Parts: sequence; C-alpha cells; structure tokens
Amino acid sequence: MQLSDWGSDLADLVLGRACLMCSAPGRSLCGSCLETLRSGDHGGMGRLDDLDPRRALPLAYALPYRTIGSTLVLAYKEHGHHRLQVPLGVLLADALLHALEGQIADGTLTSGTLTGGTLVLAPVPSHPRPARGFDALAGIVRHAQRELARRHIPSVNAPVLQLSRRHGTLKRLDRRHRISTVHGTMRARESVRDRLPPGPVVVVDDVVTSGATAREAIRALQASGVRVTAVAAVAHQTAQAR
Ligand SMILES: [Zn+2]
Repeated sequence: MQLSDWGSDLADLVLGRACLMCSAPGRSLCGSCLETLRSGDHGGMGRLDDLDPRRALPLAYALPYRTIGSTLVLAYKEHGHHRLQVPLGVLLADALLHALEGQIADGTLTSGTLTGGTLVLAPVPSHPRPARGFDALAGIVRHAQRELARRHIPSVNAPVLQLSRRHGTLKRLDRRHRISTVHGTMRARESVRDRLPPGPVVVVDDVVTSGATAREAIRALQASGVRVTAVAAVAHQTAQAR
C-alpha cells in the first residue's frame, strides 16, 4: 500500500466514511466487498450490434448499472467519493480482460494478444470542462492501467477521440433518438492515431446505457481507419434490468 493510500484511508475515517455496500467504516468500497463484486456474477458481455450485425463488437462490463453500478459510479462522480476511482479502475480492468479473453477463446484474437502487444485504451471524450471539475473517466482508466500492469499487461491511454461538436442532453430520449443525437459528434485526433502502438484497441467508458456514445466512438475511430476490438465499461444498463 502506498503512503497516499494510507493518507486517504485516514481521511475516509476522519470524514466518517463507510463502505457503501456493507457499512464497514473506512473506504467507500471495502476490500472485502470489492472482492465479492469481482468474484460474483455481476458482470457480463453484451454486443453492440447496430453498425453491422455480422461484425458486432463485444461489450464487456463489470457491474449492472441499475443496482450496484449506479450506487458506486454516482458516489464517485457526483458525491465526492473520489477514491472510488481505485476499485472502479480494477473493475474496468476485469471487464477489459474479460472482453479480450472471450475473443481469444473464440479465435477472433490470437492467444499472444495479451502478452505480445500493447493494449490501447481509447476513452470516450468528456466535456472540455467537466461539470464536477474533474475528469472522472481519466481517474478510472489510470487505475485500470495500474491493475493491468500488475498483471503484466502493457497498456496505453490513448486520447485519440475528441468531441467535434457538442450535443444536447440525452436524458429522457429513447435509444433511437440518443443514437441520432450523438451521431457525428466525435472525431479521431490524427496526431494521436498516427502514433498508436500495435495492439487491440478497446473503447472504454464508465457507464454504457443505450450504447449511443460507445457506438459513436466506434464510428469515429473506424472512419479514421482505426479498427476497434471491443468496448469495456464499469457498468452497463443491461436489458434484463430495464
Ligand atoms: Zn464493504
């Protein structure tokens, strides 16, 4: 454990924080509950099949959004539980590996993918001035990379996607209108694209709900000649939970 972790643990105790799942005093998500989430049957795989059903991309997620996913992600993004970026990063790393291992198992990727190359993480772009004053996804991705490194998997955070124009709120729009609203709002930075290392490219986000944002990220990358392997998110609003 790093000194900064001790400091934040102390801060959690001073602030009277408790685990959001089991109420144990201390961290917002205790180590025991994190392990329960990682070992349980909370995550899963979906497919983003809108672009071309024959080449549907796997979408891996660690938590269902409607239950525990929203509790943790909203506490992190909206209610100041910033240290949740550590366990949320671990969960994102789990989802990433789940997606890639699935593709290795079905022969889409070669078995050397995780050992012979560099995993390229392409975060969906956030607003230039995030509403809460911090880039929530960047913190999660940073800790996902630490977890990947701990498992001897090299990765890069490639900010290849940027917003080319803003769009209005997606709240209260149905899926079809979300997709049409988000379409054409992203583009790939050519300066970053041209320096991407060889390796699978995975679009990463904290939450995937309708899939409109992830779909636009894939479109922008593919329009720029970048082949996307999968999408990974901490939480997904699964069909079963609707
Ligand atoms: Zn707990």
